Amino acid sequence: MKKTAPKKSAPALKFDTNWKYDPAPESADHVVIDKQYGLFINGKMQAPVKGKYFNTINPARETVLASVADATSEDVDKAVAAARNAHSKVWSKMKPAERGKYIYRIARIMQERARELAIIESLDGGKPIRESRDIDVPLAAAHFFYYAGWADKLNYALPGKQVTSLGVAGQIIPWNFPLLMAAWKIAPALAAGNTVVLKPAETTPLTALKLAEIIRDADLPPGVVNIITGAGATGTALVNHPGIDKVAFTGSTDVGKIIQKALAGTDKKYTLELGGKAANIIFEDAAIDQAVEGIINGIFFNQGHVCCAGSRLFIQESVAATVIRKLKDRMETLIVGDPLDKNTDIGAINSRPQLDKIKALVKAGIAQGGSMHQSSCAIPSKGFWFRPTIFTGVAQSSRIVQEEIFGPVLAIQTFRTVEEVIEKANNTPFGLSGGVWSDKGSKVFKVSSKLRAGVVWANTYNKFDPTSPFGGYKESGMGREGGMHGIYPYVQVKD
Ligand code: NAP
Ligand code: MG
Repeated sequence: MKKTAPKKSAPALKFDTNWKYDPAPESADHVVIDKQYGLFINGKMQAPVKGKYFNTINPARETVLASVADATSEDVDKAVAAARNAHSKVWSKMKPAERGKYIYRIARIMQERARELAIIESLDGGKPIRESRDIDVPLAAAHFFYYAGWADKLNYALPGKQVTSLGVAGQIIPWNFPLLMAAWKIAPALAAGNTVVLKPAETTPLTALKLAEIIRDADLPPGVVNIITGAGATGTALVNHPGIDKVAFTGSTDVGKIIQKALAGTDKKYTLELGGKAANIIFEDAAIDQAVEGIINGIFFNQGHVCCAGSRLFIQESVAATVIRKLKDRMETLIVGDPLDKNTDIGAINSRPQLDKIKALVKAGIAQGGSMHQSSCAIPSKGFWFRPTIFTGVAQSSRIVQEEIFGPVLAIQTFRTVEEVIEKANNTPFGLSGGVWSDKGSKVFKVSSKLRAGVVWANTYNKFDPTSPFGGYKESGMGREGGMHGIYPYVQVKD
């Protein structure tokens, strides 16, 4: 019998980490950003009563983008009065199907202006254009589309009940997903017949101000949506204003606690979407390469400025060495730099204070005995940047395992049994999200049902959809946004 030569095994693939991409910048010269912005109150841009302004900068270049009004309590009074008037005279009386048409129109104009919105989001906040273009802006429009559909269906959803709006909602949002968070807040409130006063974060007010233009172009009755810019003091004035019926807050757990105390004893309703420290759990039977992609997405998406970031990684001991080696290889390929470049994976850190916070926690991680590894990528000399970073050798009690870093920093631990990882994963004051990677469905169901977290992804991570509720347990907050659950906090239901 003729012998066939033994098959030669394919030569090991050399993982070339020195690929260079030519710059592929998104052009920003057609985008109009005014030098100065007032407050959007009662359908018009208005100067702030005290005439105070502050600058919003581009964190990738440390250049000023615009000067923005700093709303004081006098401005908050005006905005709340406009919202109250619009609620009682117009919006609450309008046929729900008509309200739906306005919300639908906002969604359509957002789509038409999607490119401009994406560029401004990346300029003002530092996130890669690929993310603002493909995730933030389309998802924001999708929320308006979705809730437009709910406007005339609330009575069918709750048959035999009387569903009415609450009145005026005071809404406060953070800087990590500025336009998307504005959509999460405004769309369900309007669909349920409420009017709103929204305050974006100090470092990222520009897409909310562009949204004000869109709302004006959609011909929304004046006062239905009011957008006031300012810092924490503006937020405090809004929360404490006697003229609002509901507070919707997304931000840090520390500020959430302050707000909860301020609202105790009042009849204001509230929802709090706060911080997180999610466990991303990799079992030995997981598809390892996909899991590595999920780890990368879980922690490095949006520079790790993500409340549901998979910032605690648990790897089953038998595959830990392989996963960590593949993770380090993959980290080397991540491009950190110009947010407007379409090749960029990790953009600028949102602000200097946030960069300082990340650095301080990383320092604490090292001081507490953690072993740090960073990718070797070059980072620009100007602007706020932080290299993709992982820590091994950390303890459950380490600060970087317990505290939300809100940056591209991952804390890695190992485990042996299912019971052990469930206990470790739940050993946190937070409970917003989690991830489970396994080829075995029963294991996925067992673990995900035992994780005390509002959202658990299986064999994927960071997937969002307007039909799906999102929110936390424990110190990650209360209330849900998205889906029908996102409507409940904006309605009064009577038998
Ligand atoms: P933050 O400091 O709590 O600020 C959130 C918003 O509240 C900002 O608009 C802020 O204004 C304002 N604010 C600050 N102090 C206030 C006060 N005493 N009263 C009323 N409003 C006040 O949070 P952040 O640093 O912007 O955002 C990051 C946090 O948000 C993280 O903890 C993250 O996990 C959380 N987050 C949670 C979710 C969720 O759905 N659970 C989603 C996204 C983000 P200034 O910005 O002008 O100071
Ligand atoms: Mg900015």
